[in-house]
Amino acid sequence: MTNHSITPSPNNPRVELINQASLQPFTTFGVSSTCDHLYRIDEIEELRLATQYLEDPLILGGGSNILPMGNITRNVLRVELKGIERVEETDEYALVKIAAGEVWHNVVLWAIDQDLAGIENLSLIPGTTGAAPIQNIGAYGIELSSVFHSLEALELGSGQQKDFLTEDCRFGYRDSIFKNDLRGRMVITSVTLKLSKQHNVHTSYGAIQQTLEEWNIKDPGIRDVSKAVIHIRQSKLPDPAQLGNAGSFFKNPVISASAFEDLKKQYPEIPGYPAGNEVKVPAGWLIETVGWKGKRVGNVGSYAKQALVLVNFGEAKGEDVWAFAQEIIGSVEQKFAIRLVPEVNIWS
Ligand code: FAD
Ligand code: NAP
Repeated sequence: MTNHSITPSPNNPRVELINQASLQPFTTFGVSSTCDHLYRIDEIEELRLATQYLEDPLILGGGSNILPMGNITRNVLRVELKGIERVEETDEYALVKIAAGEVWHNVVLWAIDQDLAGIENLSLIPGTTGAAPIQNIGAYGIELSSVFHSLEALELGSGQQKDFLTEDCRFGYRDSIFKNDLRGRMVITSVTLKLSKQHNVHTSYGAIQQTLEEWNIKDPGIRDVSKAVIHIRQSKLPDPAQLGNAGSFFKNPVISASAFEDLKKQYPEIPGYPAGNEVKVPAGWLIETVGWKGKRVGNVGSYAKQALVLVNFGEAKGEDVWAFAQEIIGSVEQKFAIRLVPEVNIWS
């Protein structure tokens, strides 16, 4: 690798290499951790070389869905490609191709400025556009898959470009092929979205409607919905710049309808939402009910306003967060016979 042209040099400003890099500034949990070599790359050909020649790298975007544990003895490749382009137009929609390193929330704001609808409910989700398909980001009843058109990726090892349409991505609830069969095998370089010129806003989920009513907005547009989502999120979620976290630590479990009915007999107040033939149970409610909401052990805690978010009060290590998460998993499993699964990607 070292003799290769992706080696940073004054002639190659598109690659920055940091040896023994601290991952703290590059991940929102803010736990102390290093990696052997951090490559920051903002040019597609350099990225292609890196995917061919770097040995088994971990891929990093905005670091908002990662918990690093200890020092990572691997190469880490941070994708910093930039650019947004309207690549196709009809009267109904625009296809918009977005480079993987674009900050997701900036893309949402850009779309609203362009009067393009479809992602306003996904306002203020941290991270990059390239990571958005990995767990099919979702919030307030909308998932990336609802506006997804295609993506381009580079295969690790061969460096070959691979194109994926919606059906190839096998999107599910906070899930895709990139978390399963293709886990760690593709570097997404761009995502193309099909954004609508017709505006059908979705306000029924969560507190959006209530917020719009409080603001006396009767016929909301996409900008109003985005502002409401931003307002709700800022009032309910910890800002990683102030308090380290990676959003929801666990996925909401999806259980069979019969298992849900059994639980409902014991716990009549248990919330559940239809998920195909099954039922999605809010993990936050389970964690709160077993008593972990707002609890703190050392430097780790469950956030007082949203139990599903685990927070780093400043000096926590990845191992401390993981130990805390195990306690929660144990308590929930003991009481409800439901095993919580982390949504956050654990790096060790
Ligand atoms: P990273 O954390 O850098 O990486 C996440 C995973 O994607 C890793 O496995 C990484 O290897 C892989 N990856 C990253 N970039 C690429 C790439 N270019 N190619 C291939 N693999 C890649 N998520 C939601 O779905 N909905 C929410 O509402 C939401 N709210 C959040 C709120 C807060 C406060 C926080 C901190 C997080 C929240 N998240 C939410 C989680 C997180 O923002 C998303 O998962 C986001 O898509 C992660 O983007 P990232 O660039 O930070 O990815
Ligand atoms: P909330 O509104 O308090 O709701 C709690 C849970 O119930 C959510 O997880 C949500 O599932 C589910 N829910 C609520 N209303 C629903 C409905 N009408 N139909 C189906 N499911 C419903 O949640 P919150 O914590 O304030 O978060 C608001 C939104 O932002 C949610 O969509 C949440 O996923 C998203 N968010 C995600 C992260 C993350 O890191 N992944 C972090 C913060 C917020 P869903 O999660 O499936 O929507």
